[in-house]
Amino acid sequence: MRNEESLIIKLSNLLNKLPNIGPRQAKRLSYFLARYDSKILDEIAKLFWDISKKINICESCNFVFEKENKNQKLCSICGDAKRDKKIICVVEKDTDLISIEKTGKYKGVYYVLGGLINTFENDIDKSIDLKLLISKIKKSLVDKDPIKEIVLALNFTSEGYLTANEIKDRLKPYGVKVTQLGIGLPVGSEVEFADTETLIEAFKNRN
Ligand SMILES: [Zn+2]
Repeated sequence: MRNEESLIIKLSNLLNKLPNIGPRQAKRLSYFLARYDSKILDEIAKLFWDISKKINICESCNFVFEKENKNQKLCSICGDAKRDKKIICVVEKDTDLISIEKTGKYKGVYYVLGGLINTFENDIDKSIDLKLLISKIKKSLVDKDPIKEIVLALNFTSEGYLTANEIKDRLKPYGVKVTQLGIGLPVGSEVEFADTETLIEAFKNRN
């Protein structure tokens, strides 16, 4: 096989690992990039390098953040003494967290699940990651300083409902108060795309 072809194949195989990119699309995208402006490609390559070196996942909430120093383990929200660590808002993904932060009204912390339960996946633990959240709740009980509230801010879709119910079931044994965003968000709507006013209302009306 010729060398330039194997580079394209390597790139397609990597792009194919990204969400929602199938093998054909990965191949087309690879050929597209091969013809792209080399300056922009260099910039993208540098950005990927920076991301791999400077970005970390918060060890308290799973949020992606840019490190200000090498040893930083917490995101700026978890590291902020003014935020109430006893109220945890559970979201599907980083972009949902950003939408809620934009309201400027929420003063608790977050927990990023990394996905929602999908109807076709039998292994629930592959879709959502609750380990860290549960260990946090357990620790708060041992420390006799229990978590006050878990707010589920999940999409108003079938996956969102399924995930909310699963989380409620899994958290039941710990006796922690679990609420959900209330009216304001219409059926089928996604947290990421909800406007600020609607999100503020939905938080006020959580139940
Ligand atoms: Zn964090």
